[in-house]
Formats: sequence, structure tokens, C-alpha cells
Amino acid sequence: MEDLFQLRPELRGGALEVEIRSRSEAFRAAAEQFRFAVTPYYLSLASDKELCGIWKQILPDLRESRDELFHRPDPLAEEEHMPVPGLTHRYPDRALWYLSHNCAVYCRFCMRKRKVSRGESTPGEQDRQRALDYIRSHPEIHEVILSGGDPLSQSDEVLGYCLEQLRSIEHLASLRIHTRMPVTCPQRITSEFCSALEKWGPITVITHFNHPAELSPLALDAAERLRKTGCVLLNQSVLLAGVNDSVEVQKSLNLGLLKAGIKPYYLHQCDEVQGVSHFRVNLEEGLNLAKAIRGRIPGPAIPQYVIDLPGGGGKVPVDSSYFLNRDFHRPVFENYAGLRFYPVGDRS
Ligand code: SF4
Repeated sequence: MEDLFQLRPELRGGALEVEIRSRSEAFRAAAEQFRFAVTPYYLSLASDKELCGIWKQILPDLRESRDELFHRPDPLAEEEHMPVPGLTHRYPDRALWYLSHNCAVYCRFCMRKRKVSRGESTPGEQDRQRALDYIRSHPEIHEVILSGGDPLSQSDEVLGYCLEQLRSIEHLASLRIHTRMPVTCPQRITSEFCSALEKWGPITVITHFNHPAELSPLALDAAERLRKTGCVLLNQSVLLAGVNDSVEVQKSLNLGLLKAGIKPYYLHQCDEVQGVSHFRVNLEEGLNLAKAIRGRIPGPAIPQYVIDLPGGGGKVPVDSSYFLNRDFHRPVFENYAGLRFYPVGDRS
């Protein structure tokens, strides 16, 4: 915690210092369960006056270890569908490949808290080869998503190698990279990485901006460097209480993304991950918010509000025929395969 004040000395002596210091127990718990880490750059975006949307995404909170609503460390059942270490194959046509469990910033709402921030659980060279062999031997896989942690916490050399190998597999039609580095460490978008994207493209890069304050000049510059490689740039954000659950913030975020050449793609209902429920916006409020921005910003700036169904059901739009009973207290959803899933309902 002291490092925070060294990096941002102007925080000392105010109400914000008291607020941050009062979380010392949460910082200790964080060291055991889900590490605290932030880049000086991302910290520089946080307000020195109040607990803003940036602080709320990074500061440990005691509610993380006292969650009474969400109990599952892996609600999307990613570990159950892992034929080789570090690769989830749940939908028939695509595979999710975790290249690293490290990130530049550890977001308190992370859906992979069970393993992210534990660098030692990151798949090694041997695991990478096994994952590539698996993908090669499954012609029904048409898309590979590089994820993590943050795949960009691997070196440009490793990333270039993986892209080259994947590009040589005939049955792959699509390569995607999910990364929060343009948001948390835009300096990571190096010319070497951009060259690899250009060389092994076309590639879809999915960023993860949650708040308009994250669209800084450095982040916009990183987005432009990415766009110049010819990649498709999409953004998925998570709906987070106290961070981006207002019409004004959503309008500003999505307009800013569109202006930066990043298409707002998904607005995710917060996953039911143990230790995250204090970030949850209930489904009815989320739906109202999603409706409220329609017609107030251009169509291409509107993300689709989706829920990833607990138990590995997959993603479905919330405002849709997949939401069978429209009962916000006991919601029943159907997934793409016609199976039924029962997310936690609204308590109020
Ligand atoms: S960058 Fe992504 S994977 Fe890493 S902590 Fe944040 S949400 Fe989780």
C-alpha cells in the first residue's frame, strides 16, 4: 500500500488516504487470495479526490473474502472442459488458450481469480506444445482465442511463435487475442508486437475498457497502433456497480471507443465468481441501462448486453428470447443448445 503513496504522493493527507489506509486488512487478504498489482500508468488515471471508477477496479475490498451471494470460483466451468493444461474446449468450434496467468493490473472483479495472479500456474513450453497438438488434431476447431491472465504478459517472441504456429493450421478460420494491456499498460503495444500482428493477421483484438477515464491519450495511441496493423478492434466491458452502471458513463465510454476506432462489442453481466458479487448490477437494472443508451448514441457504439450462463452454458443476449421467463428474481435462461440455466436472481 505504501507504494501507492510513493507513486502518487498527492494522495497523502486527504480523505482518500484515510479510505485507502482503512483497507489494510483487505490488502493483507489480497496477498493471500488474489494479488494486488497496478501499473504506475493505470494508477495515474485514478482521481486524487474520490474513490473513482479506476480505484474501484483495483483496490482490494474485504467483501471479496465475505461473499454471501456468489460461491463458485469457476462459474463458467472452464476447468471442466480442459482436455490439455491451459486450453478450454467447450464450444465445438472454438478453443480458449490461456497463454499466461499474469496481468499488468489485477482487476478485483476478474472472472478467473481462481488462477490469475498465480504466475506459477501459467502453462509452460511443454503445455504450449500439447495445446498446439490438440488444436492441430481437432479439425472441428475453427477459432482459437488467446487469453489469460493477459496473453500480452508473454514476450513478443512467444506470442509471435504461437501466432505463426496457429496460422499454419489449415482448419483455423479465426484468431482472436483478448488483452487488457491497451487499458492498463499501453506501452506494451510495441512495434515488435504490432509487426507480429501484421505478419500473422488477420487477427481480432478484443480490448477491455470499462470506464471513459481509461481512454487516455496513451491508450488511444496504442489503439491507433493496433488499428494500423489491420486487425479488427473490438471491446468487451463488464457491467460493474459503482464503476460504469450509469447511462452517462456508458454513453461516454462507448462513444469514446467508437471515436477511437474500437467497436463496442459486448457489455457483460458480471460473472458469478466468488468474491465479486459487490460489483454486481442486477439484471433488471442492467437491462434498463442497455435500453437507455439505445437511441442516444449511434448504433455502432452500442454493445450487446450479454450474460455468460453459469455452469458453462455459454453467452446469450439478456434482452432476448433466451431469457425464458423474464422473472428477474428466479431467472431461467436457455442456451444455444436448448439447455436451461439458472443464474442468481435479484434479491431486492
Ligand atoms: S486483466 Fe483480465 S485476466 Fe487480468 S485480472 Fe484483469 S480481468 Fe482478470
